[in-house]
Amino acid sequence: MTTEPDMMAVRLHGPRDLRVDRVPRPGSPGPGQALLRVTAVGICGSDLHSYQDARIGDTMLNAPLTLGHEFAGVVEEIGPGEALDGEFQPLQAGARVAVDPAQPCGRCEMCEQGHPNLCRRLHFCGLYPDEGSLSHWILVPAHTCFPLPDAIDDAGGALLEPLGVAIHAADLAKIRVADSVAILGAGAIGLLILQAARISGANPIYVVDQFPWRLAVAEELGGIPINFREQNAAAAVRQATGGRGVDVAIEAAWADQSIQMAAEMARLGGRLVLVGIPSDDNLQLTHSTARRKGLTIRMSRRMKHVYPRAIKLVETGMVNLDSLISHRFPLEKTPEAFALNDAYADNVVKIIIDIGK
Ligand SMILES: [Zn+2]
Ligand SMILES: [Zn+2]
Repeated sequence: MTTEPDMMAVRLHGPRDLRVDRVPRPGSPGPGQALLRVTAVGICGSDLHSYQDARIGDTMLNAPLTLGHEFAGVVEEIGPGEALDGEFQPLQAGARVAVDPAQPCGRCEMCEQGHPNLCRRLHFCGLYPDEGSLSHWILVPAHTCFPLPDAIDDAGGALLEPLGVAIHAADLAKIRVADSVAILGAGAIGLLILQAARISGANPIYVVDQFPWRLAVAEELGGIPINFREQNAAAAVRQATGGRGVDVAIEAAWADQSIQMAAEMARLGGRLVLVGIPSDDNLQLTHSTARRKGLTIRMSRRMKHVYPRAIKLVETGMVNLDSLISHRFPLEKTPEAFALNDAYADNVVKIIIDIGK
């Protein structure tokens, strides 16, 4: 192992001010920690929010912050004492792992009740003040590491994070066999929810977006594409369902007018699951639309212990991650990658940053 004192990290200094900085390498792992050499990082919609505003919701950026929370790496060093991985097995040096970026405390009321996603003392990679993974090295709790089978490559390992978010959203939607579903947003999360809904037996599944190339991927994955720039999407879904609407509508876009659109697509007594994050931190929903239908509205907050299920789905080929990856950049080119993603240029769906190749 080299003993360079420094490493490169992609840090956000302010709105749209992303720089590749030389920063000190993390020190040796403490008890229960692992030092990872990062191999692949995905750029997420929430990273774009941070990039655009230097904040998410009410979480402000107060100092340069390394972004990145969808990642895979190789375990280089493990802290003293016992270190169990996310599967409750001893973590091994040299293991290729995917990392759940959420670090719940495990001992608060919500953690104890089985809702670690609602942990009061949650730490999260890439959310101020916790450093993210767009760097050569990172220290993480061993229990957030999930060893990857050979069938899942590094980029696939990084994409287990959005897949986990999608699995949790599908769980909240309580999708039943032959339920009709509408998904708003054909970004990575929407396309993964589409796959989770298909596996759950949903049919038909409508996918709504404005970008034709994303809708083309959705169609390949078994969705019925609807471009809301070309037609009234809610009317199209109502018409396609004989005026009834869908059993489940899932918003996985920018949570702007898409929330109202989703509510208008849902049937009487239907379920509405909200996954996307609005840039203005406001929920735009006409009260009567939701009230008169008696909708059940569920706000999705990240995920629970779903990595083992995510790994199984990808390993067995039930979920395809490769079709989402539109671009790959080396770490040094991350600012260009964010600019491209921010502009929705070049038919972008999911960008993977390859590190150390
Ligand atoms: Zn993400
Ligand atoms: Zn907790």
